[in-house]
Amino acid sequence: MVGYCNSGTRNISITQTALNKKLVILGAGESGTGTAILAQKKGWDVFVSDLGPISEKYKSELNSYGISWEENNHDGGRILDADTIVKSPGIPDKAPMVKAARERHIPVISEMEFAQSYTSAFIISISGTNGKTTTTSLIYHILKNAGFNVGLGGNIGLSFARQVALNNYDYFVLELSSFQLDGNIHFKSNIAVLTNITPDHLDRYEYDESRYAASKFRLGMNQTAADHFIYCSDDPLTIQYMEKWKPTATMHSFSLKKKENSSAWKEDHYIYIQTLKNKYTINMQEITLRGIHNTYNTMAAGIVSGLLDVRKESIRESLMGFQNIEHRLEFVTKTNDVEYINDSKATNVNSAWYALESMDKPVVWIAGGVDKGNNYEELRPLVKQKVNLIICLGLDNRKIHQAFQGDVDMIVNTMSAKEAVHVASRLAKSGSVVLLSPACASFDLFDNYEDRGRQFKDAVRNL
Ligand code: ADP
Repeated sequence: MVGYCNSGTRNISITQTALNKKLVILGAGESGTGTAILAQKKGWDVFVSDLGPISEKYKSELNSYGISWEENNHDGGRILDADTIVKSPGIPDKAPMVKAARERHIPVISEMEFAQSYTSAFIISISGTNGKTTTTSLIYHILKNAGFNVGLGGNIGLSFARQVALNNYDYFVLELSSFQLDGNIHFKSNIAVLTNITPDHLDRYEYDESRYAASKFRLGMNQTAADHFIYCSDDPLTIQYMEKWKPTATMHSFSLKKKENSSAWKEDHYIYIQTLKNKYTINMQEITLRGIHNTYNTMAAGIVSGLLDVRKESIRESLMGFQNIEHRLEFVTKTNDVEYINDSKATNVNSAWYALESMDKPVVWIAGGVDKGNNYEELRPLVKQKVNLIICLGLDNRKIHQAFQGDVDMIVNTMSAKEAVHVASRLAKSGSVVLLSPACASFDLFDNYEDRGRQFKDAVRNL
């Protein structure tokens, strides 16, 4: 049996050998496969079970390590014979096999805590509704350029477990989704960054905002005063729920509105970062990321850098060289004096708000898709001020019509990225910008947001 204990700086330790103990992993995606590789290296007897089909890539990988697996099935006898079960983050607690295991007192743990039990690396975790990937990538970029032996993982790229198995990093920068946070009990971050909390994925939390917020505050779990928790003090839901879920770490806030008590703030064109030992001034005109949401992300990354004593010159160079990631306010091209921007990752109202806010030219806005209970009211002032034309890209566009019909000159329905781009190119006036920032999920017309973004870019490039 595996035991865990709190041991000061490194909170998890395996207290008994894994040799020939049975580990069952539920789910064979990147998380499950990474866990299987790590577990096998550490001497567990590993079995991977997925109720759906397993991709060819992961099947051949499991085979190459000699790990046994099953797909489209859960062999109850074998699963419930496990000493420990690791559940992939996509599998809910109410899944029958998870419930059955818990009833039999079989520990069901997360990939995160399993992987952490095999590394003493310093952990920087990032969560929040929006800005996770950007902030995670930015922190990683700064630390790597500064010469840290650092890995990047979690919800981005390769799983944490896989990297613990295959590399020997001293630091990890991990993006954590709510799903990954929900499964943790013993996981601990040395530095936690909560970007913001806005309603999203509420369906998973029975439309209860406080449960979603509680999940985000799990980021601070097991931290002590020797650890750090970084948050946005301009974000109302973060502040509201912090009263209830007060983290136990040393707190650092960032703000665009106030300097007092902030570890990062903005004045004129400068961002100021102040941690106990370090102070930096960053000229915003020198950094590549645009938009006030990215100012927040940069502040968060700047505080992490300060806590880790990164040299000022090194931060400056990293911020000047950082390229925004695909599908996030990604500049595609300029043609006939019209700019095209792909922000397909904006799958909720809040992220579309920041995209519209950062536009400084008249906007043709491509929006729509699967609405997750959106309230468009907060977008209306920006739409009135900046948008001339809305092109809906979704199967059911009624809510968008109802919300904005009095605010723009025209609303057009389209059914494909190609059609949307074609209409935009015909109607966009010279000097304007065509912005794909849908505020909705993509599953009605596309495989996922990446597919939507790529189809948009292909259509633009074929104009
Ligand atoms: P996540 O990984 O949390 O989904 P991303 O960094 O991928 O976040 O960005 C998702 C969307 O949110 C993009 O449209 C991006 O422009 C926008 N965004 C990025 N950072 C923030 C932020 N701090 N606040 C609000 N929106 C943001």
